[in-house]
Formats: sequence, C-alpha cells, structure tokens
Amino acid sequence: MAIKPQIENITVLGTGVLGSQIAYQTAYCDFPVAAYDISDERLDSARHSFERLAALYEEEVDGAAGGPARDALARIRCSADLAEAVREADLVIESIPEKLDLKRDVYARLGRLAPEKAIFATNTSMLLPSELAASTGRPERFLAMHFANEIWKRNTAEVMGHAGTDPAVYEAVVDLARQIGMEPIEIQKEQRGYILNSMLTPWLDAAEYLLLDGVADAEMIDKTWRIGTGMQLGPCEVMDMIGLTTIYEVNAASDNEKTRAAGAYLKEHYIDKGKLGRASGEGFHKYAAAGSTANP
Ligand code: NAD
Repeated sequence: MAIKPQIENITVLGTGVLGSQIAYQTAYCDFPVAAYDISDERLDSARHSFERLAALYEEEVDGAAGGPARDALARIRCSADLAEAVREADLVIESIPEKLDLKRDVYARLGRLAPEKAIFATNTSMLLPSELAASTGRPERFLAMHFANEIWKRNTAEVMGHAGTDPAVYEAVVDLARQIGMEPIEIQKEQRGYILNSMLTPWLDAAEYLLLDGVADAEMIDKTWRIGTGMQLGPCEVMDMIGLTTIYEVNAASDNEKTRAAGAYLKEHYIDKGKLGRASGEGFHKYAAAGSTANP
C-alpha cells in the first residue's frame, strides 16, 4: 500500500482575497504557514488582511477570542522570496490570479525550487488540474483544492485530482482539509468549476447578461432575487464579495462570446474606475467598510 505523505509545513502562494484567508485559517488550525507574494507592498497589505481576519474570527468563530485568533498571526511568516518561502514546504497551496499562462509560469519555477516531497494544490476556480499538471514537473503530486470565500464559515474544500494524481497524495490532501477545519468534498471526475461553481457561475452570468443587455440595473437585479427567493444576497452583491477582478478574469477566459462581452462591460464600467467590489469599498454597490469577505 502506498504511504500517505505527511503534511506539516504549508506555503500559500498569493495573499489576495482567498490566499490570505487560506493562510490565516491554516495557521489558526496550528500549522506553520509561509505566505508568499510578489512584493513587500503586497505583503504589507497581506499583514493587514491577517489582522482584519483575526478581528473577524474573534467576533464570528467560537473559541477564537481571548488568544487563539491572535496566536495564529504568530504562525504566519511573510516572504517575497519564492525559494525561501517553499524551502521546507510539504504542501504549497497556490492562490494567484486566474490566468493560465501565469499559473503555468509560476508552477514551472515552483517545480524547480520546492523540495521533491512537496505536494502542489491549486485553488483555481475554473481551470482544470490537467491543464496545469505538466508545468509542475511533478504531475503525480499535483491536484486542485478549492476553497470558498469566507472560509471560516463557508468551509468546503473541493478536492479534485487529474488522471495522473497519486491516490495517496489525494488522500493526504483530503486529510489535511479536515485538519484545517474544512469539509472535504471529494470530486470524482475532473469538472470545470467543481460542484459549487458549476452551479454558481451560470447564475452570475445570467445577472451580468441582464446588465449588459440593459434590462435592469444591479440594484433591481439583487432586489428581485432577494424578494423572489427569500435569499439574503442577490448576484451582484455576491460578485462584489468575490471581487470584480476575479469575475472579469473568469469571464475573459470563457469560450462564450457573450460572457467575454459581459467581462469587458465589467472592466469598462467598474474595474477601470477602481470599483473592485467590497475589498475596495465599492463595486456594484457601495460599502461602509472596505474588506472582502463569497465565491468563485
Ligand atoms: P486576488 O487578485 O485577490 O489575489 C491574487 C494574489 O496573487 C495577489 O495578492 C497578487 O499579488 C498575487 N500574485 C500575482 N502574481 C503572483 C505570482 N506570480 N506569484 C505569487 N503571487 C502572485 O485573487 P483571488 O480572488 O484571491 O483569487 C486567487 C485564486 O483563487 C484564483 O485562481 C481564483 O480563481 C481562486 N478563487 C477565488 C475565490 C474568490 O472568491 N475570490 C474563491 C475561490 C477560488
């Protein structure tokens, strides 16, 4: 029987909306974490995100106040040096922008720098592990582990291998997901968007088409959804939580012409005007306090 790899040291690549949450949640669950990003400036902003998450956990997570939420901060070290950040890694969780070529480049560098034992997991929303596997140089130790936004309460980890993923590696990552407080969702077959985004994306696309076609504005779309379904948030509010840049990147990579047009609309009317969603204080809607907290 294959020996299951041990995972102790974890490195997170990218400290944006999701990467900062993954790093913090992992540290909160007692793992030492190296958080890597491309510049000291990004890492300063990551440190603010970690502080903000500690405060949020104190308010929202049972048992986090009075020490544990703050203790987690001490288990995260930030680095802008990739070689240093991955030197001891057993698992590298990649959460960098949703761009195929960028991810392939980073995996090629990572494959050369990380120890042989290290497993690589991508948090990609819409790419398939098989599209990235060859660039890692270690396809058998590569798979997807997809988190949801607001990880501390939307605690799914969709674990999806490709045909060449070693089953022992898959199992180790499923175990690790449990150890960091996630509910592992074992996806049985490669599927773009896993389970969650296979359902969420068409819903968000439908809202974007209503905007693009001038049928209704964001306010009206969200209000209709909230009243008509009894759900708390409409699709534009959900997109604001995800971050409009991520939505744009997913749209831009689509093979559907209308979806790409909706992405271009988002870019022109929101992103280029600095309206990036909750994280920037304004997207489709205005928010009193900046700070993102939903998916892809
Ligand atoms: P983001 O733009 O908020 O953060 C990306 C981070 O990656 C930034 O801090 C950026 O500086 C950093 N980065 C850029 N180039 C890099 C490089 N070469 N090496 C290391 N870091 C680099 O993006 P995000 O929303 O956190 O999304 C990241 C990944 O997670 C994407 O693949 C996205 O599809 C996926 N995801 C996002 C959500 C969500 O709700 N936002 C949910 C699940 C999965």
